[in-house]
Amino acid sequence: MAIKESDIVEVKEPELSFWEKIYLPSVIMGLMLTFKHIFRKKRTLQYPEKRREEVAVPDGGLRGKNYRGLHRLNKDDQGRVECVACFMCATACPANCIDIVGDEAPWPDREKYPVSFVIDELKCIYCGMCEYACPVDAIELTPVYNTTGLSRDEMMFDKEKLLEQYDKTIDIKPRKNPLIVGYSCDYKEQAVEHREKVEEFEREL
Ligand code: SF4
Ligand code: SF4
Repeated sequence: MAIKESDIVEVKEPELSFWEKIYLPSVIMGLMLTFKHIFRKKRTLQYPEKRREEVAVPDGGLRGKNYRGLHRLNKDDQGRVECVACFMCATACPANCIDIVGDEAPWPDREKYPVSFVIDELKCIYCGMCEYACPVDAIELTPVYNTTGLSRDEMMFDKEKLLEQYDKTIDIKPRKNPLIVGYSCDYKEQAVEHREKVEEFEREL
């Protein structure tokens, strides 16, 4: 159907005034903003002497609750990997840096588990999409921000390294969603216990 004449809006290029043409007011406004920031409180930290976790959040400190650092693979109440190899995280990952090989699970409470689970931490952009996509709360990003390696291989985090990361960080960052812990346990009891831990952790922030 042809567009009606009355629906056509003609957009004219705006005419610049004299002051807009010489850019001087814009330059002065920019400088004023710069000067304003010179006298504001500095948030730059002299790392590694001073670390973000030692500084209060309003002063530029690290907010561990939602910081997106190194990944971990969560364990269930029996110490098994929580992941069910559904590939949702790998599908959601915009950097295509998650590689999973799934197989039939050796346990009766789930169909699949990951035989291999590797994240290329150098390709990752730490967007957190994998964490949001996971239906069983198996993958999470932790407040660990200073991981280094001397080779690319060292920055490839396999299942063992990611599970190890769970043990290292569970005290500084409780499970995000305590309702999904284990597959055959008493959800209610565990949920209450985990909710208390999360609330205590959030109060400390
Ligand atoms: S944080 Fe983003 S880029 Fe990194 S593995 Fe997860 S989805 Fe991929
Ligand atoms: S980590 Fe979560 S989203 Fe990724 S494969 Fe395992 S269960 Fe699925």
